[in-house]
Amino acid sequence: MPAFGKHGIVGGYVPVRSDWTIEQDWAAYTPAEHATWKTLFDRQIALMPGRACQAYLDGLRTLPIGADTIPDFARLSDALMRRTGWQIVAVPGMVPNEVFFDHLANRRFPAGQFIRQPHELDYLQEPDVFHDVFGHVPMLTNPVMADFMQAYGEGGKRAEKLGVLDRLARLYWYTVEFGLVEEAGQIRIFGAGILSSFSETTFALDSASPNRLGFDLRRVMRTLYRIDEFQESYFVLPSIDSLLDFARTDFAPVYDGLAAQPDIAASQVLGTDRVFTRGTGAYHQALNA
Ligand code: FE
Repeated sequence: MPAFGKHGIVGGYVPVRSDWTIEQDWAAYTPAEHATWKTLFDRQIALMPGRACQAYLDGLRTLPIGADTIPDFARLSDALMRRTGWQIVAVPGMVPNEVFFDHLANRRFPAGQFIRQPHELDYLQEPDVFHDVFGHVPMLTNPVMADFMQAYGEGGKRAEKLGVLDRLARLYWYTVEFGLVEEAGQIRIFGAGILSSFSETTFALDSASPNRLGFDLRRVMRTLYRIDEFQESYFVLPSIDSLLDFARTDFAPVYDGLAAQPDIAASQVLGTDRVFTRGTGAYHQALNA
């Protein structure tokens, strides 16, 4: 099961550059690596219609991201720069928080340079080029997501100083990585952790097991999450545009208000929640059995 999206320090790795970037060295990818990309791309693209949100589909269609080869970050950056002023930079895997935040604050998205091995199609410890490019990059063509991601980088630095990074990280987790959104009366996916996962794409939308709850900023900032398994609860935004509020919000008063509030278990449904689906919890109960 995917554990994508958590940023943190790679054990023992000594970066060559202080911003942890490396060359993508596109010409060095092997035919086998391009073939792995194609396998992942083909099975995932078939799931997207009717499940991925429109902003994602529009982004994917209009960027140089295709089935046959791992995308070239230079070409992607040219296309994104014209749209929303973002660039893609290559990194070896997860990077330290302060490095990650600094890239985002400067509208640079750090994408894993490597691609998973053929035996890891459904599970991987660190975000690779498929998760980062197929999952995240299309949404960066959306002006609201583009601003939100930059604001998250700036907010991350502030939250770290205030000692409340866990609060802000939950916002990222339940939106950028595992977010759902209402669109034309349906629930659609915009989170990259879902969109880059074959099994979670159907679990998040179609399974009776997880909760699907209306998004509420303070509630989400109190909610624990799983990094090693499917989510027990997903949160549904009213629209992608609603992320703009968070890009413009100073969270300091929010953090203060939450200081005395207990965490909420990932599986819990509150009386105050707007419930789209109350999950059976069967999937996670079976894991613990
Ligand atoms: Fe991610």
